[in-house]
Amino acid sequence: MADREEGPTGEHCRACGALLSLVIVDLGASPLCESFLRPEDLDRVEPTYSLRPMVCETCFLVQLPAYVPPAEIFTEYAYFSSYSTSWLEHSRAFAERITAERDLGPGSLVVELGSNDGYLLRQFVALGIPVLGIEPAANVAEAATAAGVRTLVRFFDAALAEELRDQGMAADLIVANNTLAQIPGLNDAVAGLARLLAPDGRLSIEVPHLLRLLDEGQFDTIYHEHFSYFSLLALRWILERHGLVVEDVEELPTHGGSLRVIAGHAGAAMEGPRVAALLAAERERGLDTAAGYTGFAARVERIKDEVLEFLLAEKRAGRRVVGYGAPGKANTLLNYAGIRSDLLAYTVDRNPYKHGRFTPGTRIPILPPERLSEDRPDVIWILPWNLAPEISAQLAHRAPGSRLMVAIPRLTILDR
Ligand code: ZN
Repeated sequence: MADREEGPTGEHCRACGALLSLVIVDLGASPLCESFLRPEDLDRVEPTYSLRPMVCETCFLVQLPAYVPPAEIFTEYAYFSSYSTSWLEHSRAFAERITAERDLGPGSLVVELGSNDGYLLRQFVALGIPVLGIEPAANVAEAATAAGVRTLVRFFDAALAEELRDQGMAADLIVANNTLAQIPGLNDAVAGLARLLAPDGRLSIEVPHLLRLLDEGQFDTIYHEHFSYFSLLALRWILERHGLVVEDVEELPTHGGSLRVIAGHAGAAMEGPRVAALLAAERERGLDTAAGYTGFAARVERIKDEVLEFLLAEKRAGRRVVGYGAPGKANTLLNYAGIRSDLLAYTVDRNPYKHGRFTPGTRIPILPPERLSEDRPDVIWILPWNLAPEISAQLAHRAPGSRLMVAIPRLTILDR
């Protein structure tokens, strides 16, 4: 059941300013999920922060307070988007489609917030369209620049939007894919988007869909780096506050179920039929009432219990379980369930940045995927469940005898 605090926590909603009091699930305390440890860090103190998402009962934005300043999280980021093949494909298809739809060309400007290693903007560069990436993590921005993507190493806010406007920039398309959630000053950032957008420009925003998070028990996508969790109701509310209208919405399969929202200035864009239909579906599900958020905590606990029972049973039977992938989100689950290397001997990841490091909090070693071919473990737990089809195909050759498992939305042994 959702928990109402005895008294107010003193935290206010970052979208509408109302006082927050409704906790949707208590995941205990966790370290920052992208703070993979080096061997020399293992004897040091690891800071942990409370992980208790709350829902605003006025605008229904689900959120975590910003315990940690973004500068501590995003200045060295371990996630290089280009390491995911299906993600690159998704980006290429998007760039080609929106270029045709919006008639973008050499005179246009495409801006991306949180442009990472330039995986998306590279597609526009290839189409001859001028771009500007805005990316606070210097290490990934460097990779973007090296690939020919003009990139500013800055946090996006209204002040930066103003600076860019002063330099004569107005964006025909601003892309914010999986970025709004990572900006604690949400109102200020959305004001900046409105400021930087050309009069007939469009915003394309992708966010994981809260409806799917709740209905499919995707609690591992809750971590400190994600400050906000959006329903269309909540996203539309904050955009409207800054004079922006949601023109269209699409449901995408990415990240376990995302929304792609297209918005423009009021007057240039009008709310389309798909927007009304999805808002109705969210209201039907109760996402505009406190009751819509109860029941989630029990579901989360059930998933944790199932995983622990499975891992303990495998251990007792003398079978070895290892992980595939070391995504940030796995660390929420591993920490919440208290899973350490006695239950999960190691995990492997394609990203060389993580090799030789350890998962934060639970200290599970991260090795290169080649290890699986030598080792032939009994069970491989695919931690990034959203990429399970792609990963099980890769594992067909590497680990043909291992059973493959995912924990979310429920513990499942995959058909090979
Ligand atoms: Zn609110």
